[in-house]
This record gives sequence, C-alpha cells and structure tokens, in this order.
Amino acid sequence: MSATSPAPEPADPEETAGLDGALPLVLAGRRPAGGRGRPPRHLADLPLAERRAVVAGLGQPPFRASQLSRHFFGRYTDQPEEMSDLPRAARDPLAQALLPRLLTAERELSCDGGTTRKTLWRTFDGALVESVLMRYPDRVTMCVSSQAGCGMACPFCATGQAGLTRNLSTAEIVAQVLAGARLLADGRVPGGPGRVSNIVFMGMGEPLANYASVLAAVRRLTEPVPEGMGISQRSVTVSTVGLVPAIARLAAERLSVTLAVSLHAPDDELRDTLVPVNRRWKVAEVLAAAWDYAAATGRRVSVEYALIREINDQAWRADLLGSLLAGRLAHVNLIPLNPTPGSKWTASRPAAQREFVRRLEAHGVPVTVRDTRGREIDGACGQLAASARPPVPAGR
Ligand code: SAH
Repeated sequence: MSATSPAPEPADPEETAGLDGALPLVLAGRRPAGGRGRPPRHLADLPLAERRAVVAGLGQPPFRASQLSRHFFGRYTDQPEEMSDLPRAARDPLAQALLPRLLTAERELSCDGGTTRKTLWRTFDGALVESVLMRYPDRVTMCVSSQAGCGMACPFCATGQAGLTRNLSTAEIVAQVLAGARLLADGRVPGGPGRVSNIVFMGMGEPLANYASVLAAVRRLTEPVPEGMGISQRSVTVSTVGLVPAIARLAAERLSVTLAVSLHAPDDELRDTLVPVNRRWKVAEVLAAAWDYAAATGRRVSVEYALIREINDQAWRADLLGSLLAGRLAHVNLIPLNPTPGSKWTASRPAAQREFVRRLEAHGVPVTVRDTRGREIDGACGQLAASARPPVPAGR
C-alpha cells in the first residue's frame, strides 16, 4: 500500500460481526490493508426492487431494471449495444449507472484440454483475485473468491500467507460466475455450449468474514432471472475455516447451501497451528456448529482435510477424525496438499493417504479424495495471485 492511498473506510459492522470482535493474536495486523474505497455500484449488488429505484431515478420506466437484469443474469451480457430491446438513447446511461466494469482479466490459464480455466482478475482498485472454472462430464463448477487476500493466516495456504487486502463486493463475486457463464454459453469451453451448475466459495478469502456480501451473492446467484441467475441453492458450497457465530447465522438463514468446514486436524494442538482461528473457536465448537447447521438445513456438511505428509496424516489422527464424525451428517473431502512455493510441507505418501481413507471408512464415514485439477496452472488457493505479485517481504 502506498502512503498516498485514501484513508480506509470504517469497517462495516455487518461484515465483521461474525468474528465476534475477538481475533487470535496471530491475526492482528492482518486487518484490511487496502481500504481503497468501495467498488462502483452494480445491479448485482442490489435486489431488483432497488434496481428499479435507481432506474426510476434516471428518469426511465422502472421495468427497464428487469430488462437490464435479464440481459445480465439471463444472457450474461453487460454490453449496451447487445440490448436491442432498450431504446438506443437509454442504453448507455443505464449501463453506466448499473453495469460498470468491475473485473478485468489480467491473466488466463487453462489445462485439462481447456476444461479447467483459471482467471486472475484485477479489480477497480488494483487488487488481484482468482476464479477457476472446472468442467466435468456431468457439471461445471465455478470456484470463486470472496475477498482479495485473506486474514485467516493458514500457513499452508498461498492466500493466507499474503494477508487480507479487502472484502469483495457482492457484484464482484457474482461477476466471477457471470464470466464463466458467458464463456460456457458462447461455446468457448470444450464440450459444447453449457451452463454453470455449481459454485464453490473456495477461491481466495474467508467467505464468512465477508458475510453480508457473500450472503447477498448467494441470493443473487440462486434467485430466478431477472432477480438473479437461477442456480440451485443445493449446488452452492460455502467453505469456512470455522467462524462459529457466522456458521450459526448462516444456519438461521434457512438456505439449502452446503457448508464446508476446513478442519485439517481433529485435535486442537495441531489445528491451532494449521488453522490459527482455532485458537478462538476449538474443534469441538466448530463441529458442534457444523452439526447444528446440518440439523437446520438437512444438508450434509463437507469436512475439508488437506493431507500434509507427516503433519496431519497419521493413522491415529484418521481414527480420531473418524470417531468425531461417525454417525454425523458429514463426509470428508481429503485434499492432497498442493505445496505453496517455498513451503517445507508436501502431500502425503500414497500409502498414508490410502490408510487414512481406510480408517475413516472403518468408522463408517464417507470419504472422497479431491482430484487435483489445475495443479499445473497454480490451481490451488491463491497461488496464481501470489505468483503475479512481488514476493511478500520476509517476516510478514
Ligand atoms: N477460507 C475458506 C475458503 C477458501 S480455501 C476456507 O478455508 O475454507 C478452500 C479450501 O482449500 C480450504 O479447505 C483450504 O484449507 C484449502 N487449501 C488452501 N490451501 C491449500 C493447499 N496449499 N493445498 C490444499 N488445500 C488447500
């Protein structure tokens, strides 16, 4: 951050409430460093009724808000010249007021024959965020970022190492999905024209530390056109380090979205180091919140566990994890660690991974091993943005 940056905006109490005011010491100093003002207002930030009010304020009939919204959420366009049902003279003022360009592609990388595509986006104020499109035979998943950077400081995660720049706005989150939808609709992803079917909040950032924007993004993405994009709530996964009050708040929304909890260790001693927010909310509290979420929503909780060689992959930890999850509405998603540059850690040996799976299954816990798509394009959390930035100064 240069010294000439505008003063930071006061933190939105809505968006920090989930943290309960008490952050572990290690997270102090990782509060937003940017504060470079808010992104321009976009129609995806607003419910349809408020878009109507904006349109009316421009002296246009309110139904133009639905027309614009159909172009954006139904046809994935924000280009005024493609809006032939709008009077020519109205197109530019409406687009300027409600469809500002929020994200500019800085780099695009693809692999898996073009069916995995990662985009590094530059925001209006120069922050970098990533999204990844993954096309499978039966679905297309968009992995989106909820913050530029992240304040949770998990030592194995590239984003966690760089700290938090700022929260993304609702429309900046939605725009990542829209970009993928546009590529698919245009037939620019191998496999023919298609649609985004699934969304995972597993890109950069801690979604529940940006609660209000993420929740509004979930609503926008899942409400039908023209209110939103019409993706099924059941196909949306919100992944968290375990911010217990925010998990409870999400449960009370009574949405059908899937909760993923990044556990990575079944014992507090190790989890305190791998997921530093564990010093605030312990394994038992996080899992209790997860079971309450499952009870409130009927949705199976996904327990994320990055297997790190000789750190968290011991047989006894598999047994402990199995005993914590046995009989619960949960499954385990094992992620072979994707080592970050310079990291001393690496993925588990195949034999250790197999044994870990076997022991979980012996406890009757469903397990999947996540495929490692996108490795060759720095597919894991934050790695592309990290490689596009100058190295983080030592001691950060
Ligand atoms: N902050 C949220 C969502 C973003 S990370 C969360 O922590 O859940 C999405 C998932 O990728 C998390 O489970 C995270 O722990 C995991 N992850 C991060 N870095 C990784 C790495 N280097 N290798 C494997 N998984 C990683």
